[in-house]
Amino acid sequence: MKWNVWGHSLEETEAFLAEGGFPRFRAKQLHDYLYKRYIYDFSQMTQFPAAMRSWLEEHAQMNRPEVIRRQRSGDGDTTKLLLRLSDGSLIETVCMHHDYGNSICVSTQVGCAMGCIFCASTRHGMKRNLLPGEMLAQIYAFRELYDIPVHSIVLMGSGEPLQNYDNVLAFLRLCHNPDCLNLSYRSMTLSTCGIVPAIYRLADEGLPITLAISLHAPNDEIRNRILPASRRYPIGTLIDAARQYFRVTGRRVTFEYILIDGINAGTEHAEELCRLVGNMACHFNLIPINGTEHIQLYPPSRQQTDRFCKILEKHGKSVTVRRQMGDEIQAACGQLKRRYLDDSSK
Ligand code: SAH
Repeated sequence: MKWNVWGHSLEETEAFLAEGGFPRFRAKQLHDYLYKRYIYDFSQMTQFPAAMRSWLEEHAQMNRPEVIRRQRSGDGDTTKLLLRLSDGSLIETVCMHHDYGNSICVSTQVGCAMGCIFCASTRHGMKRNLLPGEMLAQIYAFRELYDIPVHSIVLMGSGEPLQNYDNVLAFLRLCHNPDCLNLSYRSMTLSTCGIVPAIYRLADEGLPITLAISLHAPNDEIRNRILPASRRYPIGTLIDAARQYFRVTGRRVTFEYILIDGINAGTEHAEELCRLVGNMACHFNLIPINGTEHIQLYPPSRQQTDRFCKILEKHGKSVTVRRQMGDEIQAACGQLKRRYLDDSSK
């Protein structure tokens, strides 16, 4: 089996090239071709001696996911790509074009095992973890197609990043590497449904990654109902982990809170939420639920959303209400993929 050159750390590439007797600086040159110059054909890597190019042809391969569908929203704010991996799995990735720059929403697994009732990605369970290179390729797909700079990345596509811990960390380290994307950890947001032990582990990495926690409820009763994976970690233990994350990294945690009419969006829920987090330094991101076709859950009215927001503000919380970007192009998790699969099975 040939070695896939795409998606490795510099050390890994150095070790691979050492097998062919090539010096370390060749690894840096190879990364430069791949990640700075978008040259993926060994024969075009003319800085390398001919013997090295033919050694690469013989021992290495370039295996990157292929873009099979593209969709841009009417307002041009969001672009979504469907990628096919080498084993035929399909993943989605979204680019949100904000005033301040492009933010790319990366998938970390094929499907998801968490079973959140509102989320399309989890309906068919989890197939497998993505490799670092498969996550990196999602970003490079946009860079190549549209030649856009990347301002930030958010791990909010399909999958639970903390269930794919090692690959996700390897991927974030690659993104940070000056020979790759050179992104600061602060501009990377990892969103988790709350795998408590993994949050402690992440805190101890000593990287100032922004942590977002999908809280979605002010108590265990509601949370367990809509986010079944939360049964293993009572909400109090999750809040403690968030506090610890802030203490160790100095990074304020973001709580994502999907607003679902009739379930968690009442004024009493907002009050309970404030009591739950107390005085911890955090930010709330309220997300009126996106329709997902398969389940009858709806966002509250605009007035109700405003009331919810005002209560948090009254208690001194920092709050934003997420714009519903990409609704019309099914940008919410898993929906382009579902549509594609439904179309192709007709
Ligand atoms: N597993 C991780 C990351 C993927 S989901 C997590 O749970 O955080 C990314 C975000 O999208 C989460 O906050 C998730 O709850 C939210 N989400 C999923 N389905 C949604 C929907 N139908 N409407 C609005 N947000 C949704």
